[in-house]
Amino acid sequence: MTGLDPDPAHPSAEELLGRLTAYRSHDAPTHGGRVLSYVYDSGRPDLDRLAGEAAQQMLWVNGLDPTTFPSVALLEGDLVRFGREMLHGPEVTGSVTSGGTESCLLAVLAARQRWARNAQDATAARPRLVLPASAHAAFHKAAHVFGLEVVVVPVDPATGRPCAARMVAALDQPDVALVVVSAPSYPHGVVDPVAEVAGAAAERGIPCHVDACIGGLVLPWWEAAGGGPVPPWDFAVPGVSSISADLHKYGFAPKGASLLLFADGELDRARYFALTGWPGYPVVNPTLLGTRSATSLAAAWAVVGALGADGYVELTGRTVRATAAVRAAVEDVEGLRVLADPVGPLLAVGADDALPPERRVDPHAWAAAVARRGFVLQGQPGMTQADGTVLPRSTHLTMTPVTEDVLPDLVVALREAADEVRGRSSGGGQGAEAGGAGQDTTARTTAPAGPHGIPDPQALAEAARAGGELDLTMVLALIEALPREQSAELLRQFLAAFTAPRQAHGPAQNGGGVSSGHVHPLPRPSRSSLPPSRP
Ligand SMILES: *Cc1c(COP(=O)(O)O)cnc(C)c1O
Repeated sequence: MTGLDPDPAHPSAEELLGRLTAYRSHDAPTHGGRVLSYVYDSGRPDLDRLAGEAAQQMLWVNGLDPTTFPSVALLEGDLVRFGREMLHGPEVTGSVTSGGTESCLLAVLAARQRWARNAQDATAARPRLVLPASAHAAFHKAAHVFGLEVVVVPVDPATGRPCAARMVAALDQPDVALVVVSAPSYPHGVVDPVAEVAGAAAERGIPCHVDACIGGLVLPWWEAAGGGPVPPWDFAVPGVSSISADLHKYGFAPKGASLLLFADGELDRARYFALTGWPGYPVVNPTLLGTRSATSLAAAWAVVGALGADGYVELTGRTVRATAAVRAAVEDVEGLRVLADPVGPLLAVGADDALPPERRVDPHAWAAAVARRGFVLQGQPGMTQADGTVLPRSTHLTMTPVTEDVLPDLVVALREAADEVRGRSSGGGQGAEAGGAGQDTTARTTAPAGPHGIPDPQALAEAARAGGELDLTMVLALIEALPREQSAELLRQFLAAFTAPRQAHGPAQNGGGVSSGHVHPLPRPSRSSLPPSRP
């Protein structure tokens, strides 16, 4: 070793961090309000710094054992106490999990365990999970993982809500382990009939989970912050037995933190896994993981502590104003309409099917045109429900406090994009007829077609990795057109190929194959139109 020729297998710290920065340059911006899903920016750099410093202190702590690391129990306890007050459940207990999906999984696991304990013959039957069609995919995942049968109750396409009587009727089947309602639902941002469903569930001895993953830290302050009234949905409602509320969404904490709370201590304990029948250390896990990072827990604790209820009211006020402004702007655009009956900061925008096709705006073609103007919106495919009604395709917008800062640009982008694509359709199956007139053939020709005219997922992934943009309108149209199992398989193959290691070198080698072009599978604003991402 001369010191002049460092071993290329051992890059310096500086070099590694430089590469990390280069990798990160491919990402969508996490701050600044240009991405209207995935990220929740408080617009407060002081909070971001605080979260980073809190996480730093916990990097090497193991949340597996709070008796060895009592800070974990103390942090979690403080957040549960905050949740008790916020959600009107003075006695509720629970945990901080790694995110919404884990919270939903554990709510289902707890209910399944309770059902198995009470069932006459748990080996003969399969427990049922009753969900509105609008419930988050995480519950389908939970049913898949824990072996429940999903009973999906269609929602009214006009309101986005399930009819309470249909939900209650579904509870009269045998072996219902849990019913779920949302506050609000992710796809349409509407609050389900929580009081009716929870009340009927309680009469039947069935637990009722309110999925407030996205609403849990914004709806409590919505009315006080100047938004409209919110129908009751928290622990104050009789029959609500558990609630999930993500700290890493409107809690403005870094990713990896969600609150899961239970009204009933016995149901709470049913999610714990404990094992003494192995020769190693005695195991007791309240969540799905064993060794648990406490970094996100500490970061969330610090952000919640710094904001407090009044801090959240203030940030929610900005979100309320941004939501009202975006909603008014969308309603002002010929050819678009806000779907269903949203309460809170989420909007689903569809084509205005009261107009003739040539005056409608297809929401997916619109989202692609908005992306060309520097804002990322999220496409949702159309879907035919079991009762034959159609939930039309839509584009999803999540407003945050920083949306207010970009309002003038955003409103212009939304309007100009609609003018660009009015009368065009991006094609597809269910819900596509709401889209408009002629086919947008550009969306078709960019898809590398496989043997049966269906794009080859491998080729799609290669193209996206090589720097081409993934044509999301085409993917959404395929999801609408193909049988669900087939489109799901396409997604599996696509993501496996997209995330496969680039070249033979690992990330510590010469930068791999991600050094050029876009690698994110979403319609992207052009780099030049985006402000730099704050770390
Ligand atoms: C985000 C979300 C989830 C899943 O949470 P993750 O943190 O993405 O795992 C569940 N339900 C609703 C309503 C959500 O918005």
